[in-house]
Amino acid sequence: MPASEAALLTRLQTLLPSLVLESSAAQHALLETVASLAIADPEPSPQTILAQLAQAGLLTHCVPAVDAAPGRELSIRVLCLLRAALAYRSPLYDLMFVMQGLGSHAVVQAGSPQQRRDYLPRVAQGQAISALALTEPEAGSDLSGICTSAQKQADGSYRIDGEKVFISNAGLATHYVLYARTAEHPKRGLSAFLLPAATVGVETQSMRLLCDDHPIGRVILRGVILPESARIGDEGQGMSLALGTLARFRPTVGAAAVGMAARALHEAIAHVRRRQQFGQPLANFQATQLRLAEMATELRAASLLVQHAAHTLDHAASPAEPAGPESAMAKLFATEMAQRVVDGALQLHGGSGLVFGSVIERLYRDVRALRIYEGTSEVQKLIIARSLLH
Ligand SMILES: Cc1cc2nc3c(=O)[nH]c(=O)nc-3n(C[C@H](O)[C@H](O)[C@H](O)COP(=O)(O)OP(=O)(O)OC[C@H]3O[C@@H](n4cnc5c(N)ncnc54)[C@H](O)[C@@H]3O)c2cc1C
Repeated sequence: MPASEAALLTRLQTLLPSLVLESSAAQHALLETVASLAIADPEPSPQTILAQLAQAGLLTHCVPAVDAAPGRELSIRVLCLLRAALAYRSPLYDLMFVMQGLGSHAVVQAGSPQQRRDYLPRVAQGQAISALALTEPEAGSDLSGICTSAQKQADGSYRIDGEKVFISNAGLATHYVLYARTAEHPKRGLSAFLLPAATVGVETQSMRLLCDDHPIGRVILRGVILPESARIGDEGQGMSLALGTLARFRPTVGAAAVGMAARALHEAIAHVRRRQQFGQPLANFQATQLRLAEMATELRAASLLVQHAAHTLDHAASPAEPAGPESAMAKLFATEMAQRVVDGALQLHGGSGLVFGSVIERLYRDVRALRIYEGTSEVQKLIIARSLLH
């Protein structure tokens, strides 16, 4: 292993230090794989990234084998480790990795044998690109507001009309796991469908956000016809599949935040050692040292919360009982922490931290969305409060 890769591996090992997988050799091997990924600058296209992740065997950790044991298909500890390490190296690699899991987990939970056979291996090999289509113009935090309709036709097929917004991988995806209304009941009226992107009536429009590397857009559905066999699970099971997906992946957002914050901290340390002002390195000033100490302490606190949530989920008596408050605390604290740490790191860089395209400037833009997607910080607080008051 080249010296630079070995140094990177050492850093990745500090991200979630007490996250013990089945064996420390397994943990080491996963991190070694991430350290050895060749990441070009500028980063390659999302398709190339997926091919790299697939070739390295990493996608199989977020898209389980067709015959994996029901309810225990994913190791959340492995997902957290990989997301932290990938996000440390590149938030875009992390995104392309996790979307394969988010956009296939409904099939993992309730797909028919044929859906599982046809779809999961292709997602795990990066041949199919997956996306999760929940959010709508009038339904964000409150999924019971989803109004995209899936009307059953006389021949058993469904006609789908509506609009989804903020859909990661829109335009790139080959398949969407789409949530639509099959009945009026706000929660029990939602159903999930596996929608091939090439279906007649599906149109995508890209959106440009602050995190402008993030492939994202609208998905407009006009008279889309899907056979009954495209439905995932039963009619009315949609809300539980959506919440089940979000619950499993929630601590992994915290892990990505840990990876991004750790990268920012390491960039800041390197900068303050190098940069001289008033005749000495910035690192000599106590104000700099106090700031670094605060950043490192917050980072460690967040990584421990993430590790605790991942352990709790992996060891829950029943996979149907997600570790609600633990996961919510991990996501809430880690994403809020990452925002503060990245901001602190940028401040330590001075003007150079604002230079477009620099590592710290990109992290500053990328980190912001983590407090919003997959349940905003306020929604995480509501989950925690519910567990305290119920
Ligand atoms: C980069 C990015 C990627 C995304 N990718 C996807 C994707 O792949 N698929 C997908 O389906 N969606 C995706 N989303 C959408 C994301 O899940 C939603 O943005 C998120 O759920 C919040 O919904 P909203 O934006 O409509 O905000 P709103 O729900 O309108 O919330 C606005 C504000 O009100 C607050 N609020 C809402 N309800 C309450 C309450 N009860 N109490 C207190 N405060 C409240 C929120 O916390 C927030 O601060 C993505 C979003 C972003 C930014």
